[in-house]
Amino acid sequence: MISLLGLPHDDYSSHLKGSAAAPGSIRAVLWSDAYGLVTETRVDLGAPGALVDHGDVVFSADVDPWTAIETAVDTALAAGHPLISLGGDHAVTHPILRAVRKHHPRLTIVHIDAHSDLYDVYQDNPRSHACPFARIMEEGLADRLIQIGIRCVNPHHDAQIARFGVEVFEARAWRGQPLNLEGPVYLSVDLDGLDPAFAPAVAHPEPGGLSTRQVIDIIQAIDQPIVGADIVELNPSLDPHGATAVVAAKLLKEIAGAMIPPTLF
Ligand code: MN
Ligand code: MN
Repeated sequence: MISLLGLPHDDYSSHLKGSAAAPGSIRAVLWSDAYGLVTETRVDLGAPGALVDHGDVVFSADVDPWTAIETAVDTALAAGHPLISLGGDHAVTHPILRAVRKHHPRLTIVHIDAHSDLYDVYQDNPRSHACPFARIMEEGLADRLIQIGIRCVNPHHDAQIARFGVEVFEARAWRGQPLNLEGPVYLSVDLDGLDPAFAPAVAHPEPGGLSTRQVIDIIQAIDQPIVGADIVELNPSLDPHGATAVVAAKLLKEIAGAMIPPTLF
């Protein structure tokens, strides 16, 4: 059984809003009868109870959105199942990890992205979607951070990578190397980690990225329990034909499949 949670939040997106509409777009593809629900690894997500949808977090003016997200993730995890969160922009990963860490004293983050998202502050906003992994590492919310597909590193990022001991596989160096994972894994997928040829509907498309196949291969190669995941930065306003939503839903299915041991082999 896998939990789903929508996080329709894009207030801290620096350049372009719109990713708050992503959870609905991804669910529409997931449940469309145009696509099957059996993963490549033969897990049937259409089986009764396979996916439990906790709906979307509701934001209000009188509750800090980070508190709202942390509370909702904490509640979803208390059900005892791995959780896939649907962003929203990448800023949401910080409050998600505040909740995940309470449940997992050992935790490695595998982070797929064009960007390291390690800015100390961006546009005067420490909660910017350019900053979540700086906040996560400062607060000790993971033991290891492994980034794959990165291709926008400036000297400030290099300093932050060294400061936090981040393990980086830049896109130019990624050859499917073993990650040597030990213990629970949290997987954070920024869709701009994929090349814009595969996932164009993102606020910051960056050429030279991973293929959909390479990202699925990374997911399927994770040989430790995946206790949580997020898929972020889909911007439906840039996705008139829904092509990127289809990619997001495909990754959701394969992540869920990697969370559940195969049953149909
Ligand atoms: Mn990101
Ligand atoms: Mn990014």
